[in-house]
Amino acid sequence: MPLNPPFVGMYVCGPTVYDDVHLGNCRTFISFDLIYRYLNHAGYKVRYVRNITDAGHLEGDRDEGSDKFAKKAKLEQLEPMEIVQKYTLGFHEVMRLFNTRPPSIEPTATGHISEQIEMTKKIIESGLGYESNGTVYFNVEKYSTKNNYGALSNRKQEELLEGTRELGGQDEKKGRLDFALWIKAKPEHIMRWPSPWGWGFPGWHIECSAMSAKYLGTTFDIHGGGMDLIATHHTNEIAQSQACNHCEPVKYWMHTNMLTANGVRMSKSAGNGFLPMELFTGRHTLLTRGYSPMTVRFFMLQTHYRSTLDFSNEALQASEKGFVRLMNAIKTLEILKPSDKSTSDIKSLELKCYEAMNDDFNSPILIANLFEGVRIVNSVNDGKETISKSDLEVLKKIFHEFVFAVMGLQQEQNATNNDELTKNLMNLIIEIRNEAKAKKDFSTSDKIRDELTKSKISIKDTKYGTTWEKEK
Ligand SMILES: [Zn+2]
Repeated sequence: MPLNPPFVGMYVCGPTVYDDVHLGNCRTFISFDLIYRYLNHAGYKVRYVRNITDAGHLEGDRDEGSDKFAKKAKLEQLEPMEIVQKYTLGFHEVMRLFNTRPPSIEPTATGHISEQIEMTKKIIESGLGYESNGTVYFNVEKYSTKNNYGALSNRKQEELLEGTRELGGQDEKKGRLDFALWIKAKPEHIMRWPSPWGWGFPGWHIECSAMSAKYLGTTFDIHGGGMDLIATHHTNEIAQSQACNHCEPVKYWMHTNMLTANGVRMSKSAGNGFLPMELFTGRHTLLTRGYSPMTVRFFMLQTHYRSTLDFSNEALQASEKGFVRLMNAIKTLEILKPSDKSTSDIKSLELKCYEAMNDDFNSPILIANLFEGVRIVNSVNDGKETISKSDLEVLKKIFHEFVFAVMGLQQEQNATNNDELTKNLMNLIIEIRNEAKAKKDFSTSDKIRDELTKSKISIKDTKYGTTWEKEK
């Protein structure tokens, strides 16, 4: 139950926009899009806040090390804010392709510096924050005397300490678990703001505490994010918010599980992490071909958000088939002829769809029920079963509401355009190849043929001209 029905406040940690959005993040945002859509469908008035981290996120998620934006800006020879703009636009484009609804508010860290400074001041006043040489830290040890710091991750202090380094004599921190609320800017640091403690920038965790409290209140209903955020980011958010506002900030914490590829944990360093665009185009060594955004969305929803999601060509291809079957059934549904009575219990099917979603947004069970609906549609179409007029209306409602409104799937309307586009592009490529051959530029003509072969497209020269074929 929400704190103030029919209103629901939901905060989800958004992307750090210094690079292309990775697939794990996309899974998180697609999962919360499903939750947002279903809560809206169920009649709640949801304020969905998803932030953009555009400052303050240091490498390795720690308080020292280089700033992710500054580093990338140097690498790409751009201003840090150009990096932010570039990857924010890229992120929004990917979200649009996945048909996720935009959040109600998308606040940025740089747009809320004063709120973060105010919060830091309050934490110092409460006795749980201290300044040391221009940087402000949160005193975890003092906080832990009255609160259970590792409660969210279910870890004891000793376990949390294992991931930290020993403090040296020069250290500004009092305790190893202390984390920065405000960080003193070194002279070379470009993104900096004035504060009571000198020029600096906010720590990464404080932005979410400040922005969630500003837009959703000091206690709100749902806070989401990836599972990797539990042990540090979300644990620190709770500590900061409690020190500042003296109450539990969140009623329900919801975390999405990690991704694997062929059973191995996906990571950039292991080289088995796909970017969304690589998945759509098939341009990755582990992918035999590309998969459409709706196929990928459907594939993701076939696994519950709390379970590990494993990517493989076989699983994606199975999802693609399933998605096409589902969409075809929806088309068939429009031409079904009703009879006097139904041979299947459509009302209980509808109930089961709601039960699945009411049970922690269990999309795989919902999909299983929808496939029972697909079976019924096809049986009625084949004349093996019958359906009454009123049940047919209910079945249409089930498909339209759950497939489109709740799961956010779409008929892939671009399929025919894509075919047209592919045809035109292939004609152009073949023309260039033939011109090269005519000019005896065989290195170009061979390169075209070899590259096409790599993409499983074979070309044949016949007496009528050049034809091409895509291997299935
Ligand atoms: Zn956050």
